[in-house]
This record gives sequence, structure tokens and C-alpha cells, in this order.
Amino acid sequence: MKKRIAVLPGDGIGKEVAKGAVEILQAVGERYNHQFEFSYGMIGGHAIDEKGKPLPEETIQLCKESDAILLGAVGGPKWDQVNPDIRPERGLLQIRKELNLYANLRPTTYFESLAKSSPLKDEVIQGVDLLMVRELTGGLYFGQPSERMDANGESAVVDTLFYKKAEMKRVIEKAFALAEKRRKKVTSIDKANVLESSRMWRETAEEVAKDYPHVYLEHMLVDNAAMQMVTNPKQFDVVVTENMFGDILSDEASVLTGSLGMLPSASLSENGPYLYEPIHGSAPDIAGKNVANPLAMILSAAMMLRESFGLETEANEVERAVKQVLDAGFRTSDIAEFSQQVTSTTEMIAEVKAML
Ligand code: ATP
Ligand code: MG
Repeated sequence: MKKRIAVLPGDGIGKEVAKGAVEILQAVGERYNHQFEFSYGMIGGHAIDEKGKPLPEETIQLCKESDAILLGAVGGPKWDQVNPDIRPERGLLQIRKELNLYANLRPTTYFESLAKSSPLKDEVIQGVDLLMVRELTGGLYFGQPSERMDANGESAVVDTLFYKKAEMKRVIEKAFALAEKRRKKVTSIDKANVLESSRMWRETAEEVAKDYPHVYLEHMLVDNAAMQMVTNPKQFDVVVTENMFGDILSDEASVLTGSLGMLPSASLSENGPYLYEPIHGSAPDIAGKNVANPLAMILSAAMMLRESFGLETEANEVERAVKQVLDAGFRTSDIAEFSQQVTSTTEMIAEVKAML
């Protein structure tokens, strides 16, 4: 298989971890006889320094011409003072918009050897394997009007929760398609007892479910879901929800099983390339020290193999290698326990490669 991969390392530890993901993909390519061709683009702070903006045209062009995109992280204190319109984070929002990335996937999986770094009891999180699917292009984030106003002489404000049914349908369909390849359960989260948008969401989920007779659909109110996420997370397989609920619940889900440095994500579009990035940021406090955990980025590359290229075996191999490295006791500082020896970023990458 021949694939073009755009690599946007970004700033801070983004550069260090992106290098690791590329090395792992290269090793997978050699091993399974795939030609992965990597092209590099600028995004974030260093793009501002060199091109005057966080997302230069040539980067957008490169992404559009590629089969998939790997992104490290953007930002850092150096650019905190710049004009908000050209902040590094703008580059990230802009690329999501340019590529129309409508579904954000965040898996949360249990790693037995890291159970102690979770704030929850082992019996609660043991075996957790859930996939959060968050709608990314609609809802309160983009609804108009969103402004201060005057209401009969009183100061007031309005935000708008707007969705087209088609926007709901495409993300819910994606969730069902993903569930079909997993444990065949979709939990659709809404606030249908209060919001009209949630009632339409619920109807849409019921309609989509008819096309997936083997997938079990359940509805859950968002307040209950927030509680269930920490009391009984094992019940979830695929969870799908709108933009704002998804923002909140995916952060909640991400702390179940441990460090920020372990959590990958994928953002999907209808026809264009998908984008893969770790959930963590550029971590300026540890940048350049060769101590960042590269596993979130490497697991994001595994998601790329699976979602963009359909390479299930190869994706499983990478995930297995990561698990084995953890089982063997290798730990970057963010996941090391008090007495454990600490592994550097480059060592961790080499260990995963050796396990492939
Ligand atoms: P952003 O606004 O870009 O999301 P943030 O302020 O949320 O950034 P992160 O950059 O995600 O912060 O980092 C938060 C904390 O987690 C930092 O102390 C950082 O050192 C740590 N951290 C983040 N990612 C990693 C990683 N891959 N390995 C080790 N530590 C990490
Ligand atoms: Mg953050």
C-alpha cells in the first residue's frame, strides 16, 4: 500500500513525539511492505515566526493533497502575547475548519500496568475500553447569534445552539459504524428532557439505528452520563454526543485511566484526509528535555493505520507493542511511580520499535 502522510510536528514536545510516530510508522511500513511517504508542514508558533501566520497556505495545500495527517501540538509561552488572531491555537482551529473535521474520536483504554496512576479504584476501571465520538462542527460553538444584548434595559446575553439534522446524522452514523466493529453498543447522550436539539438528536439516533440491526442503542441524559462515567465506565462501548457535551465528557473520560501522555485522538471528515493528534498540548515546561511521553502520539499513529488506511492488523501490532513496553516496566516521567526508573522519549520510541 502506498500512502502520503502529512506531518505537522508543531511546537514544544509536538516535535519530539511526532518524530517518534514517524519512526514507528516507518518500521511498520518496512515490516508489512507499505510505502509511507512523509511530507512536513508548519503549524503553530514556529509558523508564525517564519511565515507570519499559524497556518500557512502551503500547509493547508499539503494536508489536502495527503491521505492522512499527523499533528504534534502547538503553542508555547513565546507566543502568548501575540495578537489573538494569529495565536498558534488559531492554526489548530483553522485546520479543523479547512478540512471539515466533524467527528472527534477519543478512545480510553485500560492499561493494567498503569492502573495505579488513575484517580479511580482499579475495580471500577479494570477493562475499560470506550470510544468517545464528539460532534465537532456545530452546536453552541458556532451558533449565531452569540452576543451581549439589551433586554428591556437589562444587560443580557445569547448563545445559539444550532444543528442541521444532517450534521447530527453523519456523526451518529459514524458512531454506529465504529460500534459495529467493536462491542456493538452505542450510548447516545443528550438532554432530551430539556432541549429541543436533544430531542432531534434522539430521533436521529433512532433512525440511524434502523440501519444497524446488530448494534444496540441506548440513550442517556448527560447529567447521568457524567456520573456513570466515573461510577461504571465499563458499561460504555461507543459513546456519541454533540459538541459541548462531548467536550466536557471527553475530558472526564480521559482522566479515567491515567496520564495525558497516553491519550490519542482522531478527527474525521466526510471525504478529505483525517487528522491524528495526541490529546495533550505542547507542554512547554518539559519541551526539549527528551522526557515527554511519546505514546499518545504513537497510539494516534495506530489510529491512523486503522481509520484512514484500514490496516487493522498493523494498528493492533502497534497497540500491542505499546502495551508490552508498559508491561515490561518502561515509564516516562509522567507515568513513573515514585521508585521507578525513568525512560526518556527517545528510549521509549526505540523500545516500542523493538517490540514490533
Ligand atoms: P494546551 O493548552 O496546548 O492543551 P495545556 O496547558 O493543557 O496545553 P499540556 O501541554 O497538555 O497543557 O500539558 C499539561 C501538563 O501535562 C504539563 O505539565 C505537561 O508537562 C504534562 N504533559 C502533557 N503532555 C505530556 C506528555 N506527552 N508527556 C509528559 N507530560 C506531558
Ligand atoms: Mg489543554
